Amino acid sequence: MKSPNFYAETGLNRMAERRSDSVWLSEQEEKQNAIVLPVWRTQNLISHKSAKPQVGQLTINEITKILEQKPHLVFLGYRNGTPYFSVDISFIDDPKAIPELQAIGDFTDIRDISLDLPRKDGGLLAYSRAMAQWHKTHQFCNRCGSPTVPKDGGHMRQCTNIDCNAQHFPRTDMAVIMLVSSGDKIILGRKKDWPNDRFSILAGFVEPGETIEGAVEREVMEEVGIPITNIRYHSSQPWPYPSNLMLGFFAEALSDEIHITDDELAEARWFTRAELIEEAIAYRKKPHSVSIARRLISEWALKNKG
Ligand SMILES: [Zn+2]
Repeated sequence: MKSPNFYAETGLNRMAERRSDSVWLSEQEEKQNAIVLPVWRTQNLISHKSAKPQVGQLTINEITKILEQKPHLVFLGYRNGTPYFSVDISFIDDPKAIPELQAIGDFTDIRDISLDLPRKDGGLLAYSRAMAQWHKTHQFCNRCGSPTVPKDGGHMRQCTNIDCNAQHFPRTDMAVIMLVSSGDKIILGRKKDWPNDRFSILAGFVEPGETIEGAVEREVMEEVGIPITNIRYHSSQPWPYPSNLMLGFFAEALSDEIHITDDELAEARWFTRAELIEEAIAYRKKPHSVSIARRLISEWALKNKG
């Protein structure tokens, strides 16, 4: 089995089967050793107590004062016999002014420090961030417009209008990302807002009524005008910016002629294995990105190269 991508490991047992049991959930919240991970706007609490950044966490007792303002806790699961929760404290204007939080570390965008995070901390922080963002953007029912309230340990929001009563669940938007090769070369594209030397493999969202392999085919045709074949799934990666699941594929081009047909890309061109190999070797020694895109490029470039 392939090793999981970054953000895919949390070390948690999510205990999904217990989330709807409110008595059990309350018991978890009362446990002295329960851990809470605060999220503030789009940032996570990061501890700087060690040389490298780590997940910033408090016990439920240490965060009592903040919890007096009754933010809802999201139950994340169990890790090493300890219940883990996250809490969105975006209602606080300046978390730097809260001594309990200051004692742990700073609020940081995990995108900026992912490479230095322990893998399981990366996954845990991404999960907390994605949940906080979902709650923030689903305060109102999209059927009737009434307010919604969190239920099931924060894994569902229920409409407060009893005539509607709709239940809303956390969203994950599926996106496909694909390395398209032709013999000893692959297509990389540069988006319009990227610097001149930044290129990556092609990607796009899965549309309603579409299979994921259909989305791979359509996106490649849409972006570079090339028909493809032999689509093979590689692995997936949660990408919490804000709520994507990246599905990684390899595919082969049936033509070498690139025609940029949509507005997304500034340019796209073929890169040979020789052009990519140096970076791929450096990546294998020390990844310089946590993205599945870099992993796919590196694996392709080093294939049959030992
Ligand atoms: Zn409703």
